[in-house]
Amino acid sequence: MTPNDILIIGAGPSGLFVAAELARHGVTARIVERERHPHRQARATAIQPGTLEILESVGLLAPFLAASEQIHHSRLYGPGMQELGGLSLDGIDCRCRFQCSLPQYETERILAAHLAALGVTVERGVTATSVTAGADGVRVVLSHADGREETVESAFVIGAGGAHSITRHSMEEPMEGATYQGHFLVADIAMSGPFVRGEAGVICGPNGFLLLAPLPGGRWISFQDLEEEVESVTAEDVVARVHARLGGSHRPTDVGWASPFRMHRRMVSRLADGRRFLIGDAAHQSSPFGGEGLNAGLQDGYDLAWKLALVCRGLARPSLLEAYATERQIADRHVLEVSEQVHRSIAEAADTARQRREMHPAVADPVAAALLCNARAMLDMDYSGSPLVVDHTLNPAGIPGPRPGQRYADRLQFGGASHHALIFGAAPGAEALRHLNHRWSRQVHVIHNPAVNPARAGVPSGGVVLIRPDGHIGFRFPASHAEALTQLDGHLASYLVPNLDVGQCGKDER
Ligand SMILES: Cc1cc2nc3c(=O)[nH]c(=O)nc-3n(C[C@H](O)[C@H](O)[C@H](O)COP(=O)(O)OP(=O)(O)OC[C@H]3O[C@@H](n4cnc5c(N)ncnc54)[C@H](O)[C@@H]3O)c2cc1C
Repeated sequence: MTPNDILIIGAGPSGLFVAAELARHGVTARIVERERHPHRQARATAIQPGTLEILESVGLLAPFLAASEQIHHSRLYGPGMQELGGLSLDGIDCRCRFQCSLPQYETERILAAHLAALGVTVERGVTATSVTAGADGVRVVLSHADGREETVESAFVIGAGGAHSITRHSMEEPMEGATYQGHFLVADIAMSGPFVRGEAGVICGPNGFLLLAPLPGGRWISFQDLEEEVESVTAEDVVARVHARLGGSHRPTDVGWASPFRMHRRMVSRLADGRRFLIGDAAHQSSPFGGEGLNAGLQDGYDLAWKLALVCRGLARPSLLEAYATERQIADRHVLEVSEQVHRSIAEAADTARQRREMHPAVADPVAAALLCNARAMLDMDYSGSPLVVDHTLNPAGIPGPRPGQRYADRLQFGGASHHALIFGAAPGAEALRHLNHRWSRQVHVIHNPAVNPARAGVPSGGVVLIRPDGHIGFRFPASHAEALTQLDGHLASYLVPNLDVGQCGKDER
């Protein structure tokens, strides 16, 4: 493969991460970005626990922890800072029981440094001006900052160009959905806040709402409502508007970046067509109240990279690529729904306060609260229904723990970029194990370690479980005898290509 074989258009968070992930999986891509210099806008600040787990799996957690504030709680306040409800991440089943909060330019700086360390440089000042799919590949015209035009023939194009992605336009994929009512203002401000810095809050009052989340360096990212559409806002306006919502001595002492914006709930109906793949804002836009958009883009990249790399390296069948669209469609729709739920609850509280109606603290339902916590932490992504997910248990509803399609919460103990077959209970015959290794050693690590807890993998009474490179369970068989390995072999053969040495034994396994 040459780098031109995979061209990534756009070096925002989604493009940077998918490029780094492809490199980690052994495939080098080319990545172009039209802006000549990195931006300095705080934009998306929340990195959710589910994404932190992904970042840890690729060795990137430390720089994110070093560059961010940690948020453990978020709360909703009415007039006079009356607490109406809240959400704590303390009880989630994840190593990071908090969000990281950092400006988007810092996230991009960390991702770009990681990518550079993997030997890939972003080509800045290069704009994709045309994308055309043909029978054998995709033709892309690149316009360089010095006026030079270059035509590239790529096997695959990853559209990571954000909301106005040229790749999406070339696929004639409209962003279906709607724009939320209202106009909003985002500002990066320095201020002594109305609550402790390990928390985020939304304060609703008669003058409007104010969302605050801490940023490093004593700063806060703030969202508030605008009465009407405006082109821009001065720093003085931001100070006055924040003070009007908070009162007392809370007044910004510095305004870094401020911008009016609108919120959307939109998504394409097709994330890929075999050669062109849409990731991040090119494929979906969710309400920033959910704090999921950037996270979902990173998770798209994480998902696409392992599949595309296996196909490009000849280790998987091309049909594996179809599962990207299937699986991320499920996940990204879920993101839109969760963000919508958060958006509605904030919008309703803001309306009630603005109309000076009485506000009541929310009555906590512990089950609903736990589900919402997992959803907001982005730990509840479930790919069941995907062709890459198979369950051989007879009564899945009666078995506690995760089921195929869901995340395996203990996967960080294994590391690496491959699949893991976990065998719990009496080992199957040595011959069966040898056969499995012989056929799949390039893609699958077999682990038979009594110290690993079977219940946490969804087989409390023992069995065989396949953990995919993204940490989701792809296969479960509730016993560990030879039949389990035969079924696992069949499942792997449905999308992976077995080791060549097996092929050399006279079997054409493709
Ligand atoms: C106010 C606000 C707050 C938000 N808060 C959060 C939050 O807390 N958490 C969260 O997860 N998300 C949040 N989001 C959403 C988040 O900002 C986006 O989801 C994220 O930026 C998407 O990243 P991306 O890489 O997909 O696209 P972008 O960040 O839009 O990057 C696309 C890149 O592609 C480049 N490009 C475009 N076209 C071309 C071309 N033809 N050729 C070459 N380069 C091209 C662009 O210059 C750009 O650098 C927020 C959004 C807003 C507006």
